[in-house]
Amino acid sequence: MRNIETAKKEQEAEYIWRAIDVVCDRSVNLIMHSIFVGQRRFADLLKYTGMARSLLASRIKRMEEFGLIFRRPYQDKPVRYDYRLTDMGRDLFDVSMMIVRWEKLWHDSARNPVLRSSHKPCGKIFTAECRCSRCGEIVTGQDVTFSYGTSKRRGAPVQRGSDFRRSKIKSSSLETMMPMLERSMEIWGDAWSVNVISAAFCGIDRFSDFEDALEIAPNILTDRLNRLVGLGILERRKYQERPDRKSYHITKKGYDLYPVLLMLMKWEAKWLSASPKSGPIMTHSVCGHRFTPIATCDQCHEPIVGRDVKLGTPAKRARKTRASRP
Ligand SMILES: [Zn+2]
Ligand SMILES: [Zn+2]
Repeated sequence: MRNIETAKKEQEAEYIWRAIDVVCDRSVNLIMHSIFVGQRRFADLLKYTGMARSLLASRIKRMEEFGLIFRRPYQDKPVRYDYRLTDMGRDLFDVSMMIVRWEKLWHDSARNPVLRSSHKPCGKIFTAECRCSRCGEIVTGQDVTFSYGTSKRRGAPVQRGSDFRRSKIKSSSLETMMPMLERSMEIWGDAWSVNVISAAFCGIDRFSDFEDALEIAPNILTDRLNRLVGLGILERRKYQERPDRKSYHITKKGYDLYPVLLMLMKWEAKWLSASPKSGPIMTHSVCGHRFTPIATCDQCHEPIVGRDVKLGTPAKRARKTRASRP
């Protein structure tokens, strides 16, 4: 049954939905990442992402409409364009850094190495951290609370579920070009999965509450819960016998996704909300202050800005050597 507590949790989850709608699309993520690492021309994006031409063209168009990228002519006759990030697009850098951080924490391996990026000011290979703008301490999923002050919810909620089909990208292309992205895209490239995770972070843990909060069809919800349990992001706990009922809880691996969500919320408040003050107020329980999440370098602890980062390119895996003939 819905109650005030559930409604409050739903409201919390609502704040991030708009950002998810824009950003959490497998193809959009892939294109953004490619542009971050310096692929700007259509032909290069085609090769780098392994996407079908028509899909790439439609997603680029959509990203231009969102205001994430813009076209710039680089040649006159014939006119040719490349794609650049707008300020809004460039601001997703923090989100991208936090995705890479999670990959490094949980999935870095010799077989699928995660990008090595260096921080120009300190000259070191680094991993991004998420810190509190007030006390400078690391922020984790357990020590942030949200409040809403007197601000009203902004605008009409986005229509969810309209364009949530998963984009088709040959996984073999990803295997070759960007093995590390394959896992992240399982999560961040699927808006429903991210919706479920953000609802879980807001304290929603029962099937019927997820259904209410997300207005999600039961079969889709079952699929996403199973998938997130399979990925080790959520775990099931039995809370009732006869009938058998289970609730869903965030695991340690899931908690490590929290900085990505915080950065998405920060981005959403800056770029998609009616006024910068209308977003949720984040309070860091460690220092007790309102704060903004800041991406910092784990080597020198200074804030990271895009121009100071030298992004690594996908590490080449050792080529399979043919067995020598007898
Ligand atoms: Zn703090
Ligand atoms: Zn540094």
